[in-house]
Amino acid sequence: MAQQDLMLKDFIKALHFSTRKHRRQRRKDPEKTPYINHPIEVAYILSDNCGVQDPDVLIAAILHDTIEDTETTPEEIAGIFGKRVRDLVMEVTDDKILDKRERKQMQIDTAVELSREAALIRIADKISNVSDLAVSPPKGWSKKRKLEYLEWTEQVVEQLKDTDPCLEQMYYRALTDARDVIRR
Ligand code: NDP
Ligand code: ZN
Repeated sequence: MAQQDLMLKDFIKALHFSTRKHRRQRRKDPEKTPYINHPIEVAYILSDNCGVQDPDVLIAAILHDTIEDTETTPEEIAGIFGKRVRDLVMEVTDDKILDKRERKQMQIDTAVELSREAALIRIADKISNVSDLAVSPPKGWSKKRKLEYLEWTEQVVEQLKDTDPCLEQMYYRALTDARDVIRR
């Protein structure tokens, strides 16, 4: 099989895996959008908007919330997609021993330690969530809470400057748009 066919096969396998793992989950917006929309968007931002072609990065983007939000184990991911994908997913997985506030601080404090590939996923994740906050925000969130969330994403992304100019530009555009919509 040609290299490209193999890559496509693995990517479809990742889509299938992530869809099964997130199948009962919904986003926090009032319409309860299917959760899988979000990891697909993260991979799309990397690939279509910013030209990322590394198959392991795109596969890890599809899987980026499976360990954090489902019963998926790192070993399971390594067994199916290899150790590099597992390591990338682990890099963007919060430590669940910490409470929510500590996790958020941890993302700021450890951002500079991320590999470049994990940083790409981290920024694309923030672009997706910041955009969602503008168009389909979590149910019940006050204006203050939304603006605080944006502030936190900015603190994380600031630590990742010079990772990728395309993603950085896209993030700051999404941030400005979201602030405009929320303050309106
Ligand atoms: P989270 O910050 O965990 O919720 C946001 C996360 O939900 C996103 O990072 C995203 O993560 C996911 N998500 C799902 N649907 C959406 C959507 N439609 N739009 C954007 N993101 C979405 O909120 P928590 O409720 O867990 O609270 C965490 C922190 O907020 C705590 O530190 C708490 O103290 C604080 N807090 C603040 C309040 C305030 O009024 N200021 C009130 C209550 C809590 P993913 O990429 O993983 O899907
Ligand atoms: Zn995510």
